[in-house]
Amino acid sequence: MTSDCPLLPVIGGDLRVPLVTGGDARYVNLDYAASTPALESVATHLNEVLPLYASVHRGAGYASQVSTAAYEHARRLVGAFLGARTDDAVIFTRNTTDSLKLLASAVPGETVLLDIEHHANLLPWMEHAARVVPAAGTLEESLRLVDSELAARPASLVTVTGASNVTGETLPLRRLATIAHRHGARLAVDGAQLVPHRRVDLAFDGVDYLAFSGHKTYAPFGAGVLVGRRDWLDVAPPYLRGGGAVTTVTLDGADWRTGPARHEAGSPNVLGVVALARAIRALDELDPGAWHDHESALRERLVSGLEQLPGVRVHRLFSDSVDPVGVVSFTVEGADSRLVASYLSAEWGIGLRDGKFCAHPLLSRLGIAQPALRASFGLGSSDADVEALIAALAAFLGEGP
Ligand code: PLP
Repeated sequence: MTSDCPLLPVIGGDLRVPLVTGGDARYVNLDYAASTPALESVATHLNEVLPLYASVHRGAGYASQVSTAAYEHARRLVGAFLGARTDDAVIFTRNTTDSLKLLASAVPGETVLLDIEHHANLLPWMEHAARVVPAAGTLEESLRLVDSELAARPASLVTVTGASNVTGETLPLRRLATIAHRHGARLAVDGAQLVPHRRVDLAFDGVDYLAFSGHKTYAPFGAGVLVGRRDWLDVAPPYLRGGGAVTTVTLDGADWRTGPARHEAGSPNVLGVVALARAIRALDELDPGAWHDHESALRERLVSGLEQLPGVRVHRLFSDSVDPVGVVSFTVEGADSRLVASYLSAEWGIGLRDGKFCAHPLLSRLGIAQPALRASFGLGSSDADVEALIAALAAFLGEGP
């Protein structure tokens, strides 16, 4: 299988960057897990809507009406793309962090999670009633541990990452939903690294809540989504208190709306939401098989190339995991990750991430004491990007041609 060209054109796909050695090079973007580049179709659409954008829901003017229609259309489109049920609400937020914090404020009881989460799906729960289950070396055993935890003591919610931002490994959502539901709990999914790589169907998978970010899903920064069962959200404390979230206000108090408006007070990020919806439309039009195969081929080539380099270790959580997405973390024995990342950038024009990826407990679980490196890719990536990284690392290790 080959992926010799991008599956969809992205902004900055032909960007050139200066090299410390003189001259310049094509920018090799292997940092999609931090933020994906925007699709060209998203940028074109944004330019079309810019002249007409205005504040939504409150203006009678033409631009306001058009913007309100576009904003509400985006809500329907996102819900339909994700297989939302009729009793689900699609709430626009700033990003995944915001969405999970909102959800944490709405859950009427305890939450169970594994210790493999991004901080965004860990810290908000620790403020409430969270029970963290240490993951095992296999996915099967980890699922069994979640099952036992729920059997021992009921909880309202199980929350999991859909795909790890460190190892790219995916979790079996349908099975997790079955486990959670069997014990009377709901399932929430941190979809920040899943939605940009795989189709998710809430109704089919039995997922009760899903959070993700526009800037990791081929749109610019600033818009995120929380989608899921309305009942808890309709009685939760309003996430933002202000205009638009209320029906009436007196000096004695306020009547809070139900539905998304309850949590979306103030002037929302109309352009961010419209851009996100345009990106979602592009993902919806993709052939799911071609999308999957494109990224799997890149991942396979990257992992096998890295594993052939001396002293390079690719990190995995579960020995039995299947179907990881295009996120690969690794360390180079004896080398400081910041130094390696700086070398790749300065001498080769390759952008990837070094650090602990906002997942400190997960890195401890993986036995990684020092910062690591992470290469991640997606629709705008091709074989040339992966080969560039392997060649540059070989040169760093003195293995080059
Ligand atoms: N969850 C995961 C798995 C992530 O990878 C990230 C960001 O890297 C987040 C949550 C937080 O996303 P955001 O920074 O867009 O809120």
